[in-house]
Amino acid sequence: MTLLDTDPDQGLAPLEFAVTRNLAARGAAEREQILENPGFGTAFTDHMVDICWSMRGGWHRPRVQPYGPISLDPAAAVLHYGQEIFEGIKAYRHADGSIHTFRPDQNGRRLQRSARRLALPELPVSYFVQSLRELVKVDAAWVPSGADQSLYLRPFMFAKEAFLGVRPAQKVAYYVIASPAGAYFKGGVQPVSIWLSEDYSRAGKGGTGAAKTGGNYAASLLPQSEAYENECDQVVFLDQDGNVEELGGMNIVFVKKDGTLVTPQSDSILEGITRDSILQLAVDRGHKVEGRPVSLAEWRDGVASGDIVEVFACGTAAVVTPIGQLKGKNFFDEQPTGSLALSLREELTDIQYGRREDTHNWLVRLDA
Ligand SMILES: *Cc1c(COP(=O)(O)O)cnc(C)c1O
Repeated sequence: MTLLDTDPDQGLAPLEFAVTRNLAARGAAEREQILENPGFGTAFTDHMVDICWSMRGGWHRPRVQPYGPISLDPAAAVLHYGQEIFEGIKAYRHADGSIHTFRPDQNGRRLQRSARRLALPELPVSYFVQSLRELVKVDAAWVPSGADQSLYLRPFMFAKEAFLGVRPAQKVAYYVIASPAGAYFKGGVQPVSIWLSEDYSRAGKGGTGAAKTGGNYAASLLPQSEAYENECDQVVFLDQDGNVEELGGMNIVFVKKDGTLVTPQSDSILEGITRDSILQLAVDRGHKVEGRPVSLAEWRDGVASGDIVEVFACGTAAVVTPIGQLKGKNFFDEQPTGSLALSLREELTDIQYGRREDTHNWLVRLDA
């Protein structure tokens, strides 16, 4: 049974999207040139989806329209109070040309949880999945077919109401845009170096850490600059009790000598779908998995004693990334690297790209 079967909004009639074709859509030659080397998050497809929400009218006016600037009242609440949430999910082209996405029901549910925390309306999961399908249908040619390439889909929702009083907005917009993405690591997966943020945290108890909201990212930018200044690729955050949280855009997993995978669990961590899937694949292989608080001391001592044999980060954009170093103000720990992270990465991407049987029914076809 897939989670979609138990979705409370199952049975909702699909939305009727009004489709306006982009008359200035790029031609095949220009598109192919972009798809040859798309990078990440710089090129966008020819269309976007939007659905309006108002307190009185609920979800209405579903549209597929030409990609382009959004017109906003300068008093729109999102610009002042940051009432905004988003998702990140990919569409993969299989060898037979078909297009699939991965566990979209999970992203739809997470968008609902984020909405609840940010006092935004909950988009029914079936509308969420339909919105991805509608966009991919018109922009199918933008799903690249190169190795490790994908179409990155970015659904987002924000407070549109022009009102400077502080309360949940009564007018909200939901959009989906899409951006072709190249292989995250050119020339093979490279271990990353991690800077320990000792002065800044990304979330607090009861805060918005578990929601996918722009404010958490805004709070991570200064510590991320600190990481760059210290020649590190990424930053890792601790909670108030000194427990390891996550990287700000990726979850973290520790592999113990006995094969157990341990991942931090707390109310202020964003629950990654990549992490959940990787851990499920590990369970399928017979590994034990634990979600519990992990202190910085447990990490550092575990590496020093050899009890921790691998550390990796995971998220949709980079999939799985081994961690090669942990650096703080007063220490530098080389991290042990093994083969489990990369082997789980391969198994997951094989499923996503249709090279291996999808035994968990995680894939959802978008172009049919
Ligand atoms: C999106 C995100 C992740 C990774 O989630 P996936 O579903 O695996 O992409 C991890 N941490 C934060 C803060 C995120 O926003």
